[in-house]
Amino acid sequence: MTNSCVIKVSPATIKKMAAHYQGSFKAKTPPYAEFSAKIGGLTITAYNSGKVMFQGAGAEAEASKWGELASGTPKKNSTSTSLPKDFANWSVVGSDEVGNGSYFGPVVVCATYVEKKQMPLLKELGVRDSKELTDKQIRLIANDIKLAVPYHELIVTPEKYNQIQPDYNVNRMKVALHNQAIYLLLQEIAPIKPEGILIDQFTPENNYRKHLAREKNQVKEKIYFTTKGEQYHLSVAAASIICRASFLDALDQASKELGMVIPSGAGPKSDVAGAKLLKRGGMTLLGKYAKLHFANTQKAQRKLN
Ligand code: MN
Repeated sequence: MTNSCVIKVSPATIKKMAAHYQGSFKAKTPPYAEFSAKIGGLTITAYNSGKVMFQGAGAEAEASKWGELASGTPKKNSTSTSLPKDFANWSVVGSDEVGNGSYFGPVVVCATYVEKKQMPLLKELGVRDSKELTDKQIRLIANDIKLAVPYHELIVTPEKYNQIQPDYNVNRMKVALHNQAIYLLLQEIAPIKPEGILIDQFTPENNYRKHLAREKNQVKEKIYFTTKGEQYHLSVAAASIICRASFLDALDQASKELGMVIPSGAGPKSDVAGAKLLKRGGMTLLGKYAKLHFANTQKAQRKLN
């Protein structure tokens, strides 16, 4: 059986460790790692953050030479949650979405299933909070995740979004999408059942359940909610990376089709790009690429006049 553990050490200790393990360095170092070494069945990876991960036979014994074992639970200062103890080690379906706050580009929702036994692999692939990763890393890691674990992704193009949006407010749409991605993934992995389902929280649980009641295929058992879900389970971190990669690809594709840079976000750059599209093809063209109910639409119109 594989075991793994993590310690947190000072930069000075990382240097000492690097010197100690130098002879066993692996050819490739994962993103954000200082070094990665392999001794027999044990892999040791030290990150810039000071965290060092030991995976494989003798992990704890080797780790204890260098520092105190970190507990498996997240830091006290992060959002409090009601997740069961040891939830991070459960086999879980996690879901997240990206693109909701951006004027241009789709809304992407993804659910992934991460079994306990696949966690070391995902960690080795570099799966972590996508905010700590560059766009390039996100695309690379997303491809690796898709090969490694079951997932179900839903992409709502701006055009489709503009059709649905009058009937579905933002939260209702998100609930429908998370629920649908999870429902379809559960069907795909059946008869396997996850120990839990973690939804990266975007609305209070009672509101989620209120909207859920209007859906056709309702997943309501074993669901948990927490903000910053990517810190509590790798399945949410993996889902988030897949979403972000697809979102980036969609913006790239839009930029190519239009021959101009289509920005992410909802700031002044989006107003300028919106005005250009309006000038070129009116609301019909803009509605193919942008979420029209955003205030950016009025701002773009004002820029034109
Ligand atoms: Mn999220």
